[in-house]
Amino acid sequence: MELKGITFSYDKKQDQLKGISGTIEVGRITTIIGPNGSGKSTLLGVMARNFAPQSGAAVLDGKAVASYHPKELARKLAVVHQQNDAPSDLTVEGLTAFGRLPHRSMWSQRGQEDEDAIEWALESTNLLGKRRQRIVELSGGERQRVWLAMALAQKTPILFLDEPTTFLDVYHQIEVLELIRRLNVRDKLTIVMVLHDMNQAVRYSDKLIVMKDGQAMLEGAPQQIVTEQMMREIYGVEVAIKHDEQTGMYIVPLGIGRG
Ligand code: ADP
Ligand code: MG
Repeated sequence: MELKGITFSYDKKQDQLKGISGTIEVGRITTIIGPNGSGKSTLLGVMARNFAPQSGAAVLDGKAVASYHPKELARKLAVVHQQNDAPSDLTVEGLTAFGRLPHRSMWSQRGQEDEDAIEWALESTNLLGKRRQRIVELSGGERQRVWLAMALAQKTPILFLDEPTTFLDVYHQIEVLELIRRLNVRDKLTIVMVLHDMNQAVRYSDKLIVMKDGQAMLEGAPQQIVTEQMMREIYGVEVAIKHDEQTGMYIVPLGIGRG
């Protein structure tokens, strides 16, 4: 996917995205980072065509996402949003099955291909044992995985995730990140996600896009992008960057900058 000068405004007064350009590479994990309110979710929304840009375009396989038929786009990319509410009487399998809608006509029954996709999605997210449970009965970590399962059941080559680890404890954060990596390596999914934790972003991404005030400031490999200067300029935080054989690079916040 190519991002070509995307400008977007919710209210026509102020631009929330100010001419964003960049490249999402096939088969890679790209992570969008940046302070709260910098436009990360908005950008993901334009890329998934939840919002139409005022100018510029997100171009997927040579065609602007805005000109795809909704079902056609839903077979190419699936999105796991930041906040999700499910009708409380749905089961794990019931919600996962919604991911099949782009592949079916309105009144058709579930076919073998649908069943296979649902099994694969439940298995990948380690939810086979919970398939008949209702969403309300699940823990936060399990609930996050059901939304992921629904997106996976769509069987798209591209997956977008907006802060998939927020509200999870560290065990469940790592669980979701390892799952995302496995989907990338084993199933060759192209991943675009938004993360807050800089150390996790460095560890689980091939490429970072750094946003601030509606602009894409930097784009590249984590090792090149993440520097003490970047952390100061983008976040206003003083950090020490350590190098370690086991973990690679890690970032330790020291304090708030005075500049
Ligand atoms: P991030 O995901 O990086 O925290 P967002 O993309 O959610 O940032 O928000 C970018 C800017 O757009 C913020 O200033 C936010 O207040 C504004 N914004 C987000 N959603 C809406 C909306 N639905 N209507 C109006 N303004 C919005
Ligand atoms: Mg956001």
